[in-house]
Amino acid sequence: MPEQRPSKPTPKRRPSKSTPKRRPSKSTPKRRPSRPERKQRPSRPARKQRPSKPDLRGLSLDELKSFVLKLDEPAYRAGQIADWVFKRGVRSFDEMTNLSKGLRERLSEKAVLSCAKVVETHTSEADGTRKLLLEYAGRTRIEAVLLKDDERITGCVSTQVGCKFACSFCATGAMGFKRNLTAGEIVEQMISLRETAAPDRLGNLVFMGMGEPFDNYDNVMRAVRIANAEWGLGVGARRMTISTAGHVPGIRKLAEEGLQIHLAVSLNAPVQGLRATLMPIADRYSLTQLLGAIEHYSERTGRRATLEYVLLRDFNDSPEMADALAEIAGRLLCKVNIICYNETTDAVFAPPTDQTVESFLSQVRRRCPTVVRRVSRGSDIAAGCGQLCVPRDGT
Ligand code: SAH
Repeated sequence: MPEQRPSKPTPKRRPSKSTPKRRPSKSTPKRRPSRPERKQRPSRPARKQRPSKPDLRGLSLDELKSFVLKLDEPAYRAGQIADWVFKRGVRSFDEMTNLSKGLRERLSEKAVLSCAKVVETHTSEADGTRKLLLEYAGRTRIEAVLLKDDERITGCVSTQVGCKFACSFCATGAMGFKRNLTAGEIVEQMISLRETAAPDRLGNLVFMGMGEPFDNYDNVMRAVRIANAEWGLGVGARRMTISTAGHVPGIRKLAEEGLQIHLAVSLNAPVQGLRATLMPIADRYSLTQLLGAIEHYSERTGRRATLEYVLLRDFNDSPEMADALAEIAGRLLCKVNIICYNETTDAVFAPPTDQTVESFLSQVRRRCPTVVRRVSRGSDIAAGCGQLCVPRDGT
């Protein structure tokens, strides 16, 4: 596998810089300059932390059962509550009309229910893609997308507010990281998507919105299990895809989950040097480690991973790169999805010409027949891959 970096082209709109923008690494944190005039506040006595109330939107049926038993209610109440919380997606305890008023009051004292408001909806004139700006209580804002094709509706779900991984071509990366979404918030997001899709059925879920799912592993897996459960949202695991920027421990953990969920890996460069330039996560988990993890995943699960490859003009679209990608794909049990770069505000990059895309594809296809070109949807409303961001989030 060639490991040398290809020579860098002149960026499209930033002639002064010859490499894509990289955000400062954690090893060089920005320090606030010391200000001698600043008075030190006297330290407060540590406050006793109140145990936080459980969010019913993030509990499994078994956990709901233990919860109702603690309230001296019969176990079957858990099924009734799950029905309101997941199937009907109510936004208040008062709507749970088959529960007594007393129980509804106790629920509202002892628990919370993640709720989101759809603040904005944008619909693509080109392909009907809909983008939702959701606001959770506490004013956290995220974006989620509904993609529609002839046969199915797919919800593209965010897992974090922002992202830590700073891929240089991605708008979410440019936003920085605010916080993880809770399992309840992720489930609530799916419910908002389902309501917006109605009367059509939300049949598929992809974790390809804002954030790195494996950096929020436990909450994402909890949400996946709730989405998958019969008592939950009832979406088949085979109809869900988790996409990772190359979080090796996450891939290895997923291999042990015994779930039929699909794994997609954003490869984006077939050589370590270029990959690390485009995706700082590659400094932490090398290409060799990543490919090892994908191989392990396929061996453990018998499942075919998808390699995603965003074509960036003059960066990763050369015939040498196509060969290197084909070589990798040929070694793995995988499919390859090629997509063109979607413009972000940080436009160092550009999409390749159609001709380059086609010749790249045919070159990869010679050794890897499972390569396809995926047409990005919703890019006219900034709902395409890598375009999601909330610049003025309230968190
Ligand atoms: N963090 C996860 C999921 C979010 S990104 C991951 O990296 O996979 C979802 C997909 O969008 C990834 O495949 C990513 O490579 C792609 N992507 C990011 N920025 C893009 C852009 N500007 N144009 C096209 N695809 C992009």
